[in-house]
Formats: sequence, structure tokens, C-alpha cells
Amino acid sequence: MSELPHKYEVSVKIVATALKLSDETKNELKASGMMDDKGKLKLKGVSPKMLKRMKEESVDCPVLKKEVPFIQCFVCPNFQSRISGKVLCKGDSL
Ligand code: SF4
Repeated sequence: MSELPHKYEVSVKIVATALKLSDETKNELKASGMMDDKGKLKLKGVSPKMLKRMKEESVDCPVLKKEVPFIQCFVCPNFQSRISGKVLCKGDSL
């Protein structure tokens, strides 16, 4: 399988307590129909089981230079794919 050009490979970490999504991320998710008004996530092709796991994950984002919830990373314009526990990130400035 050929990979798209990407700048970073970021390891996905398991967090003890799920990180809260920022209001900004929530608004973006709502605007793109990926979250309903009650704050429930609806990601296409993601089963409830996967979603539960995703909520317990985070990445140390090399662009934002901070730890962000994996959900935020998943919907980020820089997100390309996730392969064996690593996010392939385009690395463009946000
Ligand atoms: S895809 Fe976005 S959130 Fe994820 S590591 Fe890259 S810049 Fe950070």
C-alpha cells in the first residue's frame, strides 16, 4: 500500500481519563454534522465500540504543540490515516 506524503507519524496514546473536547472542536463537529445538539458524536463508519475507544485516546500534536483528544485529531484537516497506532499527519500549520 502506498502512503500519501505526510510530515509526522504521531503515536496514539491511551489516557486514563478521557480528554474533554474544546468548544471550538465541538462547534466544528456540529457544523459538519458529526455531532448532534446534545453533544453526541456521529462519525461515519465509526462503530459505537470504536468511538468509545477513540474517546480514551489522545495524541501529542506536533503542530499545535499540545496533547489533543484523538477525536479532534481524527477530524483535523491534517489527518490522513491511522496505521498501527500511529496517525499520519500532513503537518500543515493550523
Ligand atoms: S492531524 Fe491535526 S491534530 Fe492530529 S497530529 Fe496532525 S495536526 Fe495534530
